[in-house]
Amino acid sequence: MTINRRFLLARRPHGDPVPDDFQLAETPISAPPAGGLIVRNHFASLDPAQRGWMDDAPSYMPPIPLGEAVRATTVGRVHASDNPGFVPGDWVMGLNWLEDYSAVLPGGFTSKIDVSQVPSPSMFLSAFGAVGLTAYFGLLDTAKPKAGETLLVSGAAGAVGSAVGQIGKIVGCRVIGIAGGAEKCRRLTEDYGFDAAIDYKGKSVEALSAAIAEAAPEGADIVFENVGGDVLDAELGNLAMRARIVLCGLISEYNSPEKVGIRQLWQVLVKRATIQGFLIADYVERFGEGGARMAEWIAAGKLRMDEDIQDGLENSYAAFMRLFSGANTGKLILRIA
Ligand code: NDP
Repeated sequence: MTINRRFLLARRPHGDPVPDDFQLAETPISAPPAGGLIVRNHFASLDPAQRGWMDDAPSYMPPIPLGEAVRATTVGRVHASDNPGFVPGDWVMGLNWLEDYSAVLPGGFTSKIDVSQVPSPSMFLSAFGAVGLTAYFGLLDTAKPKAGETLLVSGAAGAVGSAVGQIGKIVGCRVIGIAGGAEKCRRLTEDYGFDAAIDYKGKSVEALSAAIAEAAPEGADIVFENVGGDVLDAELGNLAMRARIVLCGLISEYNSPEKVGIRQLWQVLVKRATIQGFLIADYVERFGEGGARMAEWIAAGKLRMDEDIQDGLENSYAAFMRLFSGANTGKLILRIA
């Protein structure tokens, strides 16, 4: 009998998740549900959003139920099928769970993928997955950048941030990135082509604000926000008139039991700025269009997306926490098979 290992949410984390919040369980794999599939997961996306799904709080998705496997986008192969549209061996991507085998119904978020033209199927979780397309649609559709504008990106060395900055350069922006540590700042300018990089680590809000002012004396026309908290406060003091702020993520606040809030909101009024929330789930119908554009840029050497691949379902906790320590160097992916 084939065993399915499942990475369960055992209790809701309070602050930083700890190992006892999770449990690795083993169950027999089931037959496919009627009209559905059993998918052997090969790669799973580890995302900051999963931390939000662990809380019992109103969100755009229901909380992960206690005792259930942690929800995750995965790429894998059909192991067994009760659906004439799928045969064993087909590659699929879908919103599944951190486990060896997922029982899924096709439709919705589960779709076939063509892995024949890509170096690794994991790219459907990075450049061609929600993360790459968050950068694509979040910047181009939400902020509508124009050549010559100044784009300020936080969480800039991460998966979303590094792609936002590179797409900003492609469309002719001057791009400034904020990231943690000298090595990440070096990568911003040398590997990703940013015009300037600012290390936020160890800086007060005032010192970070001063560093942004030095890099962007005319202020930022676009702020692509991945971090929130003090970083966002420092950015708000450096807006150009009628700036657009894309609120994509607030990772500095995800583990904080008390929400931080914005202390410089006044600057939005002063600069007649706009804050727009962004959610990639709104763009599922346009993934093909965005993916084709990303593929063109990658083939032309204009865009790169690094992957940080960690091995083993049993290492899910340690791998996930790389997102919050900043250890990940590129899109964080768990290799399961
Ligand atoms: P990243 O690859 O950017 O990894 C997370 C990075 O966040 C870390 O490497 C670290 O970089 C930084 N970080 C962690 N904790 C803090 C902190 N306390 N203060 C400042 N920086 C911190 O992850 P993703 O690219 O997957 O996600 C980036 C953001 O995009 C997240 O906020 C996520 O929620 C959001 N997102 C939103 C989507 C949407 O539809 N709205 C879709 C996908 C992602 P460093 O070393 O520089 O600190």
